[in-house]
Amino acid sequence: MNILVINCGSSSLKFQLIESNTEAVLGKGLCERIGIDGSRIVYTPAGKDKITIESPMPTHTEAIKLVLDCLTDAENGVIASLAEINAVGHRVVHGGEKFASSVLVNDEVIAAIEECADLAPLHNPANLIGIRVCMELMPGVPEVAVFDTAFHQTMPEKAFLYGLPYEAYTEDKIRRYGFHGTSHSYVSKRVASFLGKDLADLKTIVCHLGNGSSIAAVNGGKCVDTSMGLTPLAGLMMGTRCGDIDPSILEFYAGKHGWDIHEVTDVLNKKSGVLGVSGVSSDFRDVEEAADAGNVRCQYALEAFKYQVAKIIGSYVAAMNGVDAIVFTAGVGENSATTRQGVCDYLGYLGITIDAEANGKRGEEIVISTADSKVKVLVIPTNEELMIARDTLALATK
Ligand code: ADP
Repeated sequence: MNILVINCGSSSLKFQLIESNTEAVLGKGLCERIGIDGSRIVYTPAGKDKITIESPMPTHTEAIKLVLDCLTDAENGVIASLAEINAVGHRVVHGGEKFASSVLVNDEVIAAIEECADLAPLHNPANLIGIRVCMELMPGVPEVAVFDTAFHQTMPEKAFLYGLPYEAYTEDKIRRYGFHGTSHSYVSKRVASFLGKDLADLKTIVCHLGNGSSIAAVNGGKCVDTSMGLTPLAGLMMGTRCGDIDPSILEFYAGKHGWDIHEVTDVLNKKSGVLGVSGVSSDFRDVEEAADAGNVRCQYALEAFKYQVAKIIGSYVAAMNGVDAIVFTAGVGENSATTRQGVCDYLGYLGITIDAEANGKRGEEIVISTADSKVKVLVIPTNEELMIARDTLALATK
């Protein structure tokens, strides 16, 4: 079966067409600047060079039409017609408490995703547009929604409740939800099979460190805690997001500058984190380069990031009363050897030692701890699209 995986962001759309037997990617790409001037699609058919097409995309509808045109194009397409797309899997950011696993889309599911839109106002509406446009263009093709929050629904109350009036939870749905669930789920499963262990016997801490970063404690395959919260602003300091701060800072900081609540929240989301502290960039490559050249604020930003990762790992060792494996994934986790080494330098008390040569490798699943390290440390490249395709296949063929 051919499965189209769609990930609609607020102004972008990533896609992959995956053949389910071989799990080969037939074609993939990205639509950028949807709804803004200068929109373009970058499409890569398997085995060929990238193709960039500039084309107006006022909405996600035009973007999905362009994706389907590229995939069925006479010269560079990878399928003859839309009839060769057998199912569509959509990433949906927020499933609230309604969805603890992926589901086949129907009217009820669409209504429930709409209900969660106030929890993810930038993402859920875009995800829904993607679902609706695919229904219209490919009527009768099964569509599956895969939620970022679903994997974290196994967290117990003690992990997801905030110290707020209980009604904040029961009436206003304010609780820790967690994000990057598809990645945490994929990576924790891969660790078990890579180590040849039973998932049920493993205590794993997954560090998804990218532009957005979150950490999850996974005990026996179930998430028991995670660092993001009601929204993806919580937890670690990230590329541009502040992560956990004293909540009183909002009023104090806004008061100092005469900002309203939206303006201060914008600063916390877009001008903080590694970008805010370093003053240089949200991209770890730029910040690492500047830190190496002696930029002190870049050094502070990177060290604060590693320190925060290490502190959350420590708290999750406590949460699970132990840990068997610590895993790094996503853009920074997979590529930055210095970040991994720096985090693990804080974890000597766990009996962790890193093999510098293994830590220097890239792009593969690998154990980077030494043979005598008491806890295994690994790098597992994440693959959210493949996870979405697998869930879609399972539900579409049920
Ligand atoms: P997103 O959260 O947008 O999905 P990714 O997981 O793709 O982000 O991670 C993107 C980030 O990965 C970039 O901003 C960059 O900071 C970081 N990154 C990518 N390659 C490297 C590298 N070689 N060294 C350090 N950081 C890297």
